Amino acid sequence: MMIYADNAATTPMSPAALATMVRCLEQQYGNPSSLYELGQRAREVLEQARQEIAAVIGADPREILFTSGGSEADNQAIRSAAELGKKAGKRHIVSTAFEHHAVLHTLKRLESEGFEVTLLDVHTDGLVRPEEVEAALRDDTCLVTVMFANNEIGTIQPIREIGRICREHGVLFHTDAVQAMGHLPIDVKADNIDLLSASAHKFHGPKGIGFLYARKGVKLTNLIEGGAQERGKRAVTENTPAVAAMAVALTEAAAHREQNAAPQSALRDRLIAGLSKIPHSALNGDAEKRLPGNVNFCFEGIEGESLLLLLDDRGICASSGSACTSGSLDPSHVLLAIGRVHDVAHGSLRLSLGEDITEEQVDYIIRNVTEVVEYLRGFSPVWRDLMSGKTPFIL
Ligand SMILES: *Cc1c(COP(=O)(O)O)cnc(C)c1O
Repeated sequence: MMIYADNAATTPMSPAALATMVRCLEQQYGNPSSLYELGQRAREVLEQARQEIAAVIGADPREILFTSGGSEADNQAIRSAAELGKKAGKRHIVSTAFEHHAVLHTLKRLESEGFEVTLLDVHTDGLVRPEEVEAALRDDTCLVTVMFANNEIGTIQPIREIGRICREHGVLFHTDAVQAMGHLPIDVKADNIDLLSASAHKFHGPKGIGFLYARKGVKLTNLIEGGAQERGKRAVTENTPAVAAMAVALTEAAAHREQNAAPQSALRDRLIAGLSKIPHSALNGDAEKRLPGNVNFCFEGIEGESLLLLLDDRGICASSGSACTSGSLDPSHVLLAIGRVHDVAHGSLRLSLGEDITEEQVDYIIRNVTEVVEYLRGFSPVWRDLMSGKTPFIL
């Protein structure tokens, strides 16, 4: 048995998206900037995809800019807002401690360029409080950036409310919606969003392609200078096949979203209930306001890395934090942000289920995680100290 339970890291491509990509690579290989028929056919594919993507989130096609993925969209959104802020003499940005590194590292860079950043604490439930966002706003705040749903613990933030507050105060609002796109309803107008980032490989599209929504009137700053592609905002010959595949994947995800979400959430809850029976374990993040496929646990007295390797032997692909941080020995900044202490944060496990997960697979995961945690605790000195009372249990 092989169970892919790491959909927050990346997803397999949908067959329809893959077929579109191959067809486009074979047939629409023209450069969309070329004037002859073959180029113009590629241009049509590109603009058709832009319309489809815009329609899913309630945007105008001219508000969609294609990028190489979520990280680039985050970088460009934040850099653009900072540039606009600088021109208006505003150099303060509000964000949260559990954002993706594409956001956090961009903010770090801006700090070294003279910006001031307020990172809000996240509560133990993994949720940001809108009133705390409001309280952090200052006269010189040029941007608020809060992710739609967290990539590690899956918690869904009160985006519409935060957006409303930003509108009232005349501050730009960016959201990294990479985990939410295709999985949650998103309407940029109703949700009061000015800038939004998305990435195709998190919703069954190809890797290396994504998009940035920028509300009409929000002037973007280039990260890449050169030709006049993307209305002059991103030079690079457009990746027409990937864009076309992304549009197919997103349209498909949006069309089946509601139908998928109910059974997927039910199986997520079955998995949570099963893993909760493991002694000294705890779910990370709110149980209800979470992505339909996300399960994230801490198990006291074990190492997350060993757990992952042994689960891999049993055919389960999972992750300890985010793919970007595995390989480093630091515990996840997200788990630390929600108040997990170092030792506990080390014993974490993220299982992000696909829409096609079955009850049988969930039960297989429960059985195997339970066995492996027990096995690892069997020779863990940390666990021995906990059991003998030498150190107190936290969970
Ligand atoms: C995956 C992810 C990104 C990065 O997207 P890429 O397309 O891989 O660059 C950014 N933010 C979040 C929340 C993510 O989950």
